[in-house]
Amino acid sequence: MKCSFCGKEIPLGTGKIFVFKTGRKLTFCSSKCERNMLKLKRKPAKQKWVTKEKKATR
Ligand SMILES: [Zn+2]
Repeated sequence: MKCSFCGKEIPLGTGKIFVFKTGRKLTFCSSKCERNMLKLKRKPAKQKWVTKEKKATR
């Protein structure tokens, strides 16, 4: 299963599945991806923060 937003592989048992009333399903690896997709309606293809944020350690 892959994240509908960032395209990362989601290990079984983790992540979230969002099901629309229409039956369409979206899978998310994290709530961040969920928020970006559902609330901010960003286009997944243009997002680079996924890998960027991983490298940046605070
Ligand atoms: Zn994701």
